[in-house]
Amino acid sequence: MAALMDTRLLLRKIKDLRCLTPRRNRVKAKWAGSLPKHPASSLALQNFDATYGHQLGEQRWPSVRVSLLSERKYGALLNGFSADEAVVGELEAQGCRDFIVNTDHQDGGAKSEGRTEEEYTDVSQELPPPRLSPNIKCLVFPRADITRFKPTRPDVYGLRSYYLMDAASILPCLALDVQEGHCVLDLCAAPGGKTLALLQTPEIRFLCVNDMSVSRTSRLKKVIDSYIPKELKGRLRVTSEDGTKWGEIEKDVFDRVLVDVPCTTDRHSVLEDDNNIFNRSRTKERRMLPQLQMELLLAGIEAARPGGEIVYSTCTLSQLQNQYVVEQAIHLARENLGIHLQVLDLRPLTRLFSNTFTFAPDLALGEMVLPHLTANFGPIYMCKLRKMV
Ligand code: SAM
Repeated sequence: MAALMDTRLLLRKIKDLRCLTPRRNRVKAKWAGSLPKHPASSLALQNFDATYGHQLGEQRWPSVRVSLLSERKYGALLNGFSADEAVVGELEAQGCRDFIVNTDHQDGGAKSEGRTEEEYTDVSQELPPPRLSPNIKCLVFPRADITRFKPTRPDVYGLRSYYLMDAASILPCLALDVQEGHCVLDLCAAPGGKTLALLQTPEIRFLCVNDMSVSRTSRLKKVIDSYIPKELKGRLRVTSEDGTKWGEIEKDVFDRVLVDVPCTTDRHSVLEDDNNIFNRSRTKERRMLPQLQMELLLAGIEAARPGGEIVYSTCTLSQLQNQYVVEQAIHLARENLGIHLQVLDLRPLTRLFSNTFTFAPDLALGEMVLPHLTANFGPIYMCKLRKMV
């Protein structure tokens, strides 16, 4: 009898709890029989446990792991074309700050910009602080503050005032250092967060925005329509080409090339089963990723003019998709295309933001933002190359 009473009490409590959850947020659990035996997100986590524990060290991986599994933090990339002047004040009143203007170390001194090919670890000269685009502004809540941003609203001209994205995704755009009069290629551009950041430099001569996926390109066009005024669109070209073939179409043209490749998107892979590259049906595609990434980077290198600069970026922690891809591309560019590349040191840049992001220490090549519970951005990897004249 007592057991029956307990069960009734429990059922009533569950019913009460259900009433507290708004109807729109209630989800009907799937029947166990229809659940996949090995959800893609669990396969991803198993894979990461096996590789990243070794790569990042048994001390660091558990902290990165728990952060990957927790809610990510966003930044609000301000749209300089929006007429909504009140928005900055409103965000600042909530406690946000622009992490680019409010850099952490104003001296920013660092060492050795020109590291050629194998000499990544040769650090000898002091470098001046890097140039930062004065037009890229991104507001974030302070460390350990997990307040969410409100959705943005269109201004009187229909342009939105900010774009919510992982604030660490701005770093490859800052590293690209787009200057007045530059001709720029964004090789894998959809859904378009980095394109919007690049377009904040209005003196840009020309921006070519490409993504092989037609559906993602049309999403990208919608993003551009919501953020960029018509007058600037004359300087934009949006295409849906296979980026690996770009070097055959346009060689030695662009001052700056962003190669933000498809990757295992680690955060998405451990959290979502839909559209997950660890799904068993996508094993071949996943295994081919480093090859595709390397071909895209090589195409970007070919598209850059001599003296031009290329930033390679991913949102994975994988050494195989980061360091090894860049090393292989540098090697093949030299051997097969006769192109010599200089690896540019990004530490002057990352040092400026060491209070906002947690960077991986001691990477052999490139820089990486590690997810951390107090600053849950990333992962973002980036490496910058200069095409030798
Ligand atoms: N840069 C984008 C941003 O900031 O919003 C994110 C790019 S996402 C990491 C990688 C993109 O590469 C995907 O949109 C995918 O459709 C595209 N892609 C995949 N294979 C490609 C190829 N061969 N050529 C060009 N784009 C490709």
